[in-house]
Amino acid sequence: MPKQREDNLDLIRSDGAFDVIVVGGGINGIGVYRELALQGLRVLLVERNDFCSGCSAAPSRMIHGGLRYLENGEFGLVRESLRERDALLRNAPHMVRPLPTTIPIRLILSGLLNSAAGFLGLSSRPASRGALPIKIGLSLYDWTTRKRRLLPRHRFRGASETLRLWPALTPRLRFSATYHDAWISYPERLGIELLLDTARLAPGNVALNHAEIARSGGGFTVTDRQTGEELQVNTRAIVNATGAWLDESLPTLSERRPDAERFISGTKGSHLILDCPPLYSELHGHMIFFERDDGRVCILFPYLGKVLAGSTDIRVDTAGRTRCEPDERDYILDSVREVFPTISLSADDVVFSYSGIRPLPRSDHAFTGRISRGHFVHRIDGAVPQFCMIGGKWTTFRAFAEQTADEVLAELGRPRIRETIDLPIGGGAAFPADGGLAADLAGRHGLSAIRAAWLADAYGTRAADVLAYCLARTDDVPLDGECAITTAEIAWLARSEFVGSLEDMLLRRTPLAIRGDISRAIIERVADVMAAELGWSIERKAREIETTVSDLAYYHGVSAEMLDRRTNDRSSICV
Ligand SMILES: Cc1cc2nc3c(=O)[nH]c(=O)nc-3n(C[C@H](O)[C@H](O)[C@H](O)COP(=O)(O)OP(=O)(O)OC[C@H]3O[C@@H](n4cnc5c(N)ncnc54)[C@H](O)[C@@H]3O)c2cc1C
Repeated sequence: MPKQREDNLDLIRSDGAFDVIVVGGGINGIGVYRELALQGLRVLLVERNDFCSGCSAAPSRMIHGGLRYLENGEFGLVRESLRERDALLRNAPHMVRPLPTTIPIRLILSGLLNSAAGFLGLSSRPASRGALPIKIGLSLYDWTTRKRRLLPRHRFRGASETLRLWPALTPRLRFSATYHDAWISYPERLGIELLLDTARLAPGNVALNHAEIARSGGGFTVTDRQTGEELQVNTRAIVNATGAWLDESLPTLSERRPDAERFISGTKGSHLILDCPPLYSELHGHMIFFERDDGRVCILFPYLGKVLAGSTDIRVDTAGRTRCEPDERDYILDSVREVFPTISLSADDVVFSYSGIRPLPRSDHAFTGRISRGHFVHRIDGAVPQFCMIGGKWTTFRAFAEQTADEVLAELGRPRIRETIDLPIGGGAAFPADGGLAADLAGRHGLSAIRAAWLADAYGTRAADVLAYCLARTDDVPLDGECAITTAEIAWLARSEFVGSLEDMLLRRTPLAIRGDISRAIIERVADVMAAELGWSIERKAREIETTVSDLAYYHGVSAEMLDRRTNDRSSICV
């Protein structure tokens, strides 16, 4: 067992008394864990699978104000989201970066009355938005950020100028509007950095993935899913951050009946990663944010050398691991064809797909896009009071965590002693504003440009520590071909970033899978290193490979044949 996990389990074994237990290690659970631990409380975080493996691994990767929430009249949410977006641009500049966003517009006035109706709660399905409502929305965006402007103001263009800049865009457009939001490169890695920061700033707190928790007697039992070991713990308060699983987890953590009224109404959303160089170059670094005739907003933007396109918004009754179905894939591909009609695109260009369930507050709204993306805390009384985190978005995790922590602090009669709004995250601390970290690493250590760029992007200013470890080993060699990730780096990740399974490594600590670089050869090489570092038996290693290959095919559209083909075509590897 890796020392990091053993140390964490030892902390529970030696003292099972916690001020607060947070259940669910998505971004909201991680956020509130950091928030409470930094206030001097002793906190335990329990995640059933891997950290950020649920909805938090499935976003559109936008860190945004939420232009379209203005239509629902959610000005407070937009103001809060813009504040949090700007805080993330400052605190995590290695992973959160500005994203110029262009909206192709076909109409002038359309959507104005609908927006007003939406604002008054009268409309169920938004019609296509015209230039005027978009102009009003973007002006409000600019006005809200006027005193701390980090990103350029919006601008409008006529059809000819737009088509000169983006010749492949649909000729049906009459205008375009460009504004700036932000995107996040590795959301799952940011979650891990928050945990590592917490371990450094507030040692003694425990974050445990691959573990379960349930009520037992007057306390709770934590079960290590890797070994089956059971540990008794108790607490003064629970924060339930299980997202889409909230209604299912409540009866296991409180006296609440399984058939009680539900809090969450989930909607499923899927994305595709496309390997289509003509589309990539036609985007010119912009996100294209557009509407289909059914009122759904779709997006596509350059992502790690590929194109990210999404998403769908489909009601689901129960939570669970989910995948992009063929009809969703076709819907997204059709959406892209609608906005770039001359670019040829097929299902063969999809190198990876992913899907997740938005844990939205329960709503009967006929149009899912209208369900609020806001958040709130619901307290459930009991011997151990439970604070349920409901709703939210990636962008606003810190604000939601702060709000939840304040309610818990009030319950426990403890003061707030530290703010997090200006706290740098992980390798975002002292990150050079000129973006010169990669060049500096390459020059100082004689690294290839591609490896230096990966290290700077993935670890920010932590890259120096990662590199010191790698260079001291004899196996600092690429995993395969031109791969920027080395064997030694996999060993470092296995030891220091809470890795419990092969999928944790391939799907969430590295972009090997999402970028479409993963091959059977890489899977086997990574499994070898992990087996050596984590003490896996031959049987365990074989099981990990088998599960990974089958999950990649079922949940991410990466078939065994694709993995074999990529093993033979080593030129495609370039992470
Ligand atoms: C398609 C899509 C696109 C999105 N795009 C964006 C975007 O661009 N920008 C943005 O800001 N937001 C976006 N979001 C929203 C954002 O991703 C979510 O709001 C956020 O990730 C929710 O985080 P969470 O921690 O509440 O839930 P989750 O990440 O789902 O975390 C809940 C965790 O609880 C664990 N769990 C469940 N039951 C138990 C139990 N009994 N014991 C222990 N653990 C348990 C689960 O394993 C899971 O890891 C998007 C969401 C989707 C689905």
